[in-house]
Amino acid sequence: MAASPVAGDASFQERPHSEALLSFAHHFQYAYLMTGTTDITQVRSQFPVLTRTMRGHDLVYFDNGATSLKPATVVDAITEYYQEYSANIHRGVYEMSGYATGQYDAARESLRALIKADPAVGEVIFTRGTTESVNMVAFGWGRRHLTPGDEIVLTPLEHHSNMVPWQQVAAATGATVRYIPLTPGGSITPEAVRATIGSRTRIVAVSAMSNVTGYMPPVDLITAAAREVDAKVLLDGAQYASHHAVDVGALDCDALVFSGHKMCGPTGIGVLYAKRSLLEEMDPFLYGGDMIERVSLEGSTWARIPEKFEAGTPNIAGAIGMGRAAQFLMDLGLDAIADHERELYRYMSDRMAELDYVEQFGDAPPEERGGIFSFAMRGVHPHDVGSLLDQQGIAVRTGFHCAQPLMDHFGVTGTVRASFYLYNTRDEIDRFATALERIHSILA
Ligand code: PMP
Repeated sequence: MAASPVAGDASFQERPHSEALLSFAHHFQYAYLMTGTTDITQVRSQFPVLTRTMRGHDLVYFDNGATSLKPATVVDAITEYYQEYSANIHRGVYEMSGYATGQYDAARESLRALIKADPAVGEVIFTRGTTESVNMVAFGWGRRHLTPGDEIVLTPLEHHSNMVPWQQVAAATGATVRYIPLTPGGSITPEAVRATIGSRTRIVAVSAMSNVTGYMPPVDLITAAAREVDAKVLLDGAQYASHHAVDVGALDCDALVFSGHKMCGPTGIGVLYAKRSLLEEMDPFLYGGDMIERVSLEGSTWARIPEKFEAGTPNIAGAIGMGRAAQFLMDLGLDAIADHERELYRYMSDRMAELDYVEQFGDAPPEERGGIFSFAMRGVHPHDVGSLLDQQGIAVRTGFHCAQPLMDHFGVTGTVRASFYLYNTRDEIDRFATALERIHSILA
């Protein structure tokens, strides 16, 4: 938890929009410790969308796995850019462009701070999101370095965006994709890790948290196994990094990818963090302006990292908004957020255990899960459950969640997924449970 600012503190005045945020931050921590609903009201008041109704009910937003809501401070950061200094970066000799460049660079600093990246070891590259970040590594590194017989190791629980690019690169290079087998309940055992990662493995790309079950695979064990055979490790942090404290040094991954829109930031912006050793082995993914050192009619050379990987005018407002979102999360405290969601998950499990027609997916214990609860209501199609929840003002996701191989593994075509974030409450879970009972009494 960041220390509260004092009036007159220069750094505080430089960040006027964090005043309201920080003034309630210490209440917020108590709210989390108590998992109550009194102080969290102040947190919720920062999210304008939470004041709206849906189908005549107060909105219950349980679709955070798809995207999070945005606090006013992030919206303000984006608006400020467009209203006050909407110049291009890295180009102008004039003051306003210099200021925009400074804000863009400061956003990168905030993202570095969020994941504790040491710029001497690795760098934050701005991308369009997790999907683009994975593609950059798959094509920028994989196409250049993989050869027939090499193995790419994934798991069947990956989001399609951390599976399809690797399948494509395997097809292009002759490499093979291998999958760490799952238990029937969708978990990963140490034996399965050891049996799959071997001397032919060149890269292991795994999700740090399943977007379907909330299961958090043993990434430390997976990374250690990869290290033994000198393979690279890419962690898909799309779900994990927005809800947990991350230290890329401690994780010792070669790459970590995540999206702004799942961490209170805007859409269309994300991060590829990668060690310099990996970035130096990677070709750029996009070529053009801003990523060059020198262009002549005969050929071109590339700018230094990170510019080498940020061709063209970037999403300046998006990066600035994502930077503000990172500050917002750090001010609240990532550990406090993770604790809050763990409590919500436990409460949800208890409430759902009372409903014998609810079957949860996944066999991992609560301590190996984040705040995602995927389930089926016996005898009712997931889409019908989702539509009837919508009628009661509750937003959830239904379907295969961009994880069809995991659906195949569970033998279903889809699930209903309720996913939490820092502003959700027990009261909302109570409303959710009541809504399910109503649906069951109507349909079953
Ligand atoms: N990986 C995981 C685990 C995800 O949950 C998602 C988004 N649902 C992605 C990757 C892709 O993220 P994006 O759509 O922001 O690129």
